[in-house]
Amino acid sequence: MVNLRSALALGLAQLCHLRVAQAISPQRIVHDLQAQLSVGSEVVLTSNPSFEEDFTSRFSASHSPKFVVGAKPKKVSDVQKVIRYASKNKVPFLATGGGHGYTWTLGELENAIQLDLGHFQTIDINTDANTMTIGGAVRIGNVTEQLHAVGKEFPVGMCPTVGISGYTLGGGVGPLGGMYGAASDNLLSAEVVTGSGEVLTVSAKSHPDLWYGLRGAGFNYGVVTSMKYRIHPATNNGEITVINAMFPAALNGSVWEACNSFVGRHPKELSILFAIRLNETLGGISPIASFIYFGPRDEALKVVKPFLDLNPLHVEIHQSNLAEFSNVALYADVADIGSRKAIDFAPFTLNLYKVDVKNLVNVINFMNTTLAENDDLKGATLSWAQYPTEGFLSYPSRSSAFAYRDVIVYFSIDGFTEDVAKLPLLDDFGKVLRDMLQLGSGRPQLETYVHFGHGDEGPRSWYSAAKLPRLRALKRVYDPRNLFSWYNPVPSVGH
Ligand SMILES: Cc1cc2nc3c(=O)[nH]c(=O)nc-3n(C[C@H](O)[C@H](O)[C@H](O)COP(=O)(O)OP(=O)(O)OC[C@H]3O[C@@H](n4cnc5c(N)ncnc54)[C@H](O)[C@@H]3O)c2cc1C
Repeated sequence: MVNLRSALALGLAQLCHLRVAQAISPQRIVHDLQAQLSVGSEVVLTSNPSFEEDFTSRFSASHSPKFVVGAKPKKVSDVQKVIRYASKNKVPFLATGGGHGYTWTLGELENAIQLDLGHFQTIDINTDANTMTIGGAVRIGNVTEQLHAVGKEFPVGMCPTVGISGYTLGGGVGPLGGMYGAASDNLLSAEVVTGSGEVLTVSAKSHPDLWYGLRGAGFNYGVVTSMKYRIHPATNNGEITVINAMFPAALNGSVWEACNSFVGRHPKELSILFAIRLNETLGGISPIASFIYFGPRDEALKVVKPFLDLNPLHVEIHQSNLAEFSNVALYADVADIGSRKAIDFAPFTLNLYKVDVKNLVNVINFMNTTLAENDDLKGATLSWAQYPTEGFLSYPSRSSAFAYRDVIVYFSIDGFTEDVAKLPLLDDFGKVLRDMLQLGSGRPQLETYVHFGHGDEGPRSWYSAAKLPRLRALKRVYDPRNLFSWYNPVPSVGH
C-alpha cells in the first residue's frame, strides 16, 4: 500500500499529474500508435493474448503498474513518437527494460502504456577500446557470457534477469563494486529520449547537467535507448571462487561478529552475502552465506577463515565465472528468485553503515519468536549484501546522483507470500523490522538504496538531502510535466 507518507513524498505537483483523467480510450491509443510506428513495432491492448507472449513480464505483482496498452517500438524514432503521443494526449506511460523494478510507487500508475524496450537488444563489445555498448532492454545475463568469453568484466549485479539500463540508472551495485564502483560509475555515455521527444547524447561533455542526474536518478528524466560503458580485463583470468555456507540458528551473533571483523579491512575482491530465513529443519532463523571472491580458491579460503572457523553446518566451493557465479551463489537462491514472475512480496530496505551485532541479534531473535507464533509471516526473508567500499569511494560523491558511497551493508527485508491476502501483514512486519534495524544503522535518518526501496521512504532517503536540490532543478528542466515520475520520483517542487 502506498500510504500517506509516500503520497506526500510525491509532492503536490505530481499528485495533480497523477489525477489527470485519461480522455482517450485504449482502443484509440492502439489505433493511433499502430498508424504511426514503423514496421516491426507492436502495439496491442493488454487484454490481447499477444501482450502476454511478446511483451516483458514483471517480476513483482505487488503494487505493480496497471497497463492498458503495450507499445513495443522498433526504432528510436518510434520511441520518440510514443512519448510525444502520450505526452500530447496525457496518457501515462512507463519505459520497461527488464521489468524487475519493484518499488510500490509503481502501483500509482494506472491506465498506462507499457513502453516496452524489448527490441533494443544490441550488444557491442570492443575489446581493444574496453567498451561495451548495449540497447536499453539488455539484461545482465545477456552480457556476462560474452564478457567472460573475451576475458572482460563489468560491475554487474547479483541477478541475471535485471535490465542493465534500469540497474545503472539507479546506480547499480554488485560484487565487482569493490573494484569498479557502481555500474553508473562505468557509464561513458547514453542515448536518451526526453519528454519532449528529443534524442540527446548525454555524457560528461554533452548535457553535463543531465549526465549528473542520469547516474543514480536516471529513470526520472527520460528513456534510454542505449548505453556505452567502460569494461575491464577480467580479474584472476575470469575465475571466481564462490563459497556457500550454512550456519545454524545458534550462531546468530558469531556470524555478525565475523562480518564486523571485515569492516575497515574488507578486501576489494570479496563480497559477503547472507539470506536469513526460517529453516524449520534447523530449528529457527538460520543464515546461509555466499562468499564471492574474485581470486583463486586458496586465497578465498584464507580470506573467509573467520567464517569457516565458526564450523558451518555445510560448506560448498565452486570455481565459477562472470556468467555463472550468480547461478550458484547462496545455493542458487538468487537465480531462482530472480527468474520468477509476478510474485507477491513486501520489499523493505535500509543502508547499514556499521555492523551492530547486538541489534542484529535482537532483530533475529524477535523474528524467530514472531515467526514461530505466526505462520503467515513465514515467507519473511532478510538479505545482507556487504560489498567492499573501495571502488565506490574511488569516485567523489559530487560526481553523480548516486548517493551513499560508504554503505557497509545493503540490508533488505522481503516478505514473500503466495497468498496476496497475507501481504498487509508482511508489510507491517517489514516496517517493524526496518525500524528495529534502523536503530543500529549508524545514521539518525533512514537512508536507502533507491532500487531496493519500498516506496514509502521519500526522496531524501533515496537521493540524500544534499543531492535533492540539484535533482529537483534537473526535473524542472528535463521533465517539467512529470512524465517520468512513477519510480521513487524526484519531486520538481518541495524540500
Ligand atoms: C531479483 C532482483 C535482484 C536484484 N539485484 C540487484 C543487485 O544486485 N544490484 C542492484 O543494484 N539492483 C538489483 N536489483 C534492483 C534492480 O536494479 C532494479 O529493480 C532495476 O530498476 C531493474 O531494472 P529493470 O529494467 O529490470 O526494471 P524495469 O521495471 O523495467 O525498470 C525499472 C525502472 O527503470 C526504468 N527503466 C528501465 N529501463 C529504462 C530505460 N532503458 N530507460 C529509461 N528508464 C528505464 C523504468 O521505467 C522503471 O521506472 C534487483 C532486483 C530484483 C527484482
